[in-house]
Amino acid sequence: ADTDSSSSIYESVPDSAALEKEKVSRFVTIMQGCENFCTYCVVPYVRGRERSRDAAAIVREIEILADQGVAEVTLLGQNVNSYGQKEGTTSFPGLLEMISAISGIKRIRFATSHPKDLSDELIHAVNDLEKVCPHVHLPVQSGSDRILKKMNRGYTTRRYIERVSELRRICGEIAISSDFIAGFPSETMDDFQKSLDLVREIEFDSIFAFSYSDRPNAPASKFSGHIDEQEKLDRLNALLKLQEYYTEKSNARLCGMTRQVLVEGKSSKTSLSEKGEPGRVQMTGRTGTNKIVHFYSEDTAVQGRIVEVGIEKAFPHSLWGSVKEFAYDEK
Ligand code: SF4
Repeated sequence: ADTDSSSSIYESVPDSAALEKEKVSRFVTIMQGCENFCTYCVVPYVRGRERSRDAAAIVREIEILADQGVAEVTLLGQNVNSYGQKEGTTSFPGLLEMISAISGIKRIRFATSHPKDLSDELIHAVNDLEKVCPHVHLPVQSGSDRILKKMNRGYTTRRYIERVSELRRICGEIAISSDFIAGFPSETMDDFQKSLDLVREIEFDSIFAFSYSDRPNAPASKFSGHIDEQEKLDRLNALLKLQEYYTEKSNARLCGMTRQVLVEGKSSKTSLSEKGEPGRVQMTGRTGTNKIVHFYSEDTAVQGRIVEVGIEKAFPHSLWGSVKEFAYDEK
């Protein structure tokens, strides 16, 4: 994937093809390029400077999707928080408000937010706009200020922790996910421990972690102190293993609660209905906090609707529940 220039390989911006088959949820690109120049990344060189799409064009595109029955959109950009800033037109919170007004759209998600640009205005928009899901993906990349500086990320861990605290203070229940790079050039065991410490301190709902690898011509490829491959993998695995505990913990917290779930479709997992319970189909959907929930439905007609699900069991990567009632019945 050395030639992949469409996005940063270290940021888990989802692949827009992944959900295309689903009619419920779609990705919408709202901006291209990036000018943050993180030292491990080539996006600013290959994709050029940041450009935001016209807000009216985005709204028109989403209106068409809504007419086709799409209920959820995920707005994509390398740094959605700075949407419209250069153009001096609509701000990102302003765009969220415009999209919220589109009938038929029930949920709005976005990725990726750069921690340095997470404004109070956006935090309030996430809280105030009912359709905007309580989930922020905020890639931190490292828990060591020394490494963050070498990465040219533009924030300290203290600032990052402060932003997460503010998100939680204003929004209450909100999922926080993140990205980490293990084994950035010159990362010492002490630096790496600080990444583990940050995982413990924040208690993320989920993380994506990558072991560092050179991108041709990215400044970091010329940095000294490259880490041994095996060591990078060991650090990556240690991060993922630690996070598993917190992912399970955040899932377990929902047991006994009722949450609104947007139904995405039939569950791909083997359903009990195949073992002799005709008429009951196992469906899958997500909470606003982006947790996968499986449940039975009498039919598949609930696809694209939001239902109230009582959460009964928590697993490491999903939840199980039963439908209580329809939260919304309108299109
Ligand atoms: Fe790359 Fe950094 Fe821009 Fe993300 S914010 S695309 S990692 S330069």
